[in-house]
Amino acid sequence: MADPAPRVRVFFALWPSAAIATELHRAARRAAPRDARLMRADTLHLTLAFIGDVAPDRLPAIEAVGDQVRWPRCMLRLDQLGHWPHNQILWAGSQSPPDTLAQLADELSVGLQAIGITLAPRPFVPHITLARRCRHAVAADMRPIDWPVDGGVLAVSQRDHTGARYLMRRRWPAH
Ligand code: ATP
Ligand code: MG
Repeated sequence: MADPAPRVRVFFALWPSAAIATELHRAARRAAPRDARLMRADTLHLTLAFIGDVAPDRLPAIEAVGDQVRWPRCMLRLDQLGHWPHNQILWAGSQSPPDTLAQLADELSVGLQAIGITLAPRPFVPHITLARRCRHAVAADMRPIDWPVDGGVLAVSQRDHTGARYLMRRRWPAH
């Protein structure tokens, strides 16, 4: 039987510099319980629009959406740790995310809708997953980390035995 049509799993995201990722990883090590699974520093990111599995021939249209939106330059202060029991995720977020980020997520969503891709109807909650399999709430403060956001990416998600691996398919500078 022929293989099923290949699919590629993609999402728009903000990807921190190595320096910011290192700081986030440190915060994760401080806060996560020992038996949680920490995300590697190079995998830390903030998802703006999760598209999911698509046929590869959809990629040019998806990239064109990234070309159309305005990628803002802004300062994102990460100053909040949270825990979601339903998926056992420990995350970092902001008590005062810049409005421009929600606008960006919205523009991506609208652009994707126009090419026939409807995102899950969930509110945009900007967060960075720091650790998985975190079974308990964390009672830790977070030393604020100021992330100077200066662009974004279209990332490809691939799984291997260590979990997800991400490849950067395109990058857009802030403008
Ligand atoms: P894995 O699923 O292999 O454990 P992962 O969740 O990091 O790893 P993906 O499922 O490819 O990898 O997701 C990529 C990114 O999109 C992650 O930041 C994930 O939290 C986010 N994401 C996944 N599914 C959704 C969804 N339905 N809605 C919003 N964001 C999502
Ligand atoms: Mg997932």
